[in-house]
Amino acid sequence: MSQLEILQIPVLNDNYVYLAHDPQSKQTAVIDPAVGGPVMDALATKGWTLTHILNTHHHADHTGANLELKAETGCTIVGPKADRDRIPGIDVEVADGDTYALGKAVARVLDVPGHTRGHNAYWFKESDALFCGDTLFALGCGRVFEGTHKQMWNSLSKIMDLPDATRIYCAHEYTQTNGRFALTVEPGNPLLIARMTEIDQLRSQGKPTVPSTLGLEKATNPFLRPSSADLQQAVGLVGANLVDVFAETRIRKDNF
Ligand code: ZN
Ligand code: FE
Repeated sequence: MSQLEILQIPVLNDNYVYLAHDPQSKQTAVIDPAVGGPVMDALATKGWTLTHILNTHHHADHTGANLELKAETGCTIVGPKADRDRIPGIDVEVADGDTYALGKAVARVLDVPGHTRGHNAYWFKESDALFCGDTLFALGCGRVFEGTHKQMWNSLSKIMDLPDATRIYCAHEYTQTNGRFALTVEPGNPLLIARMTEIDQLRSQGKPTVPSTLGLEKATNPFLRPSSADLQQAVGLVGANLVDVFAETRIRKDNF
């Protein structure tokens, strides 16, 4: 078992690409390489050699540099089995409950569909790190494009079962907009109000608000809080089942 060194690379408008390096074996993965240039630059700066690409889902802003990086480094591409046809250059298909070893650092794979038909999250338990792509965001969740609201809620519930200390390495810096929406459905949540003050401060300094922790998300992210009485009241579904409350919250965000 080994602790990863994780490097966050902001690319495009609001994407985060991550390098995860196992210091013992010297293996290095890139998670969701939207673009290749900044990844190669970061590898050179760190003196790391790319051995793996881990893809969460097929969207171009997560797989755009797969083939370029594979051609340049000969790395192995790991991605969701349920979407193997749409992951450029995929070598290894993984699905729920599988483990994948990056040297001595082991990831457990979670199937978290909803945003897309196949969507993986990679949980490095020893490093308290979850790479969750576009499923869970800081104060938000991914749009439900290819799955159902029920699927997305099940996926988020699966993530909620991980330890609160888990760091949430999501793939976009959407936090400030997410937070503005969150305040419309839980305006009286003191932890949310305090968090938004911090977020506004970080963003005004051009700093990332990611990663957060699962514990913080559970306390402030409306998409993990359909059991909140205030949220149920705000969306007009007091006492309804959690899937319906989640779905209504997601639909309101789509129209926000
Ligand atoms: Zn996406
Ligand atoms: Fe994305």
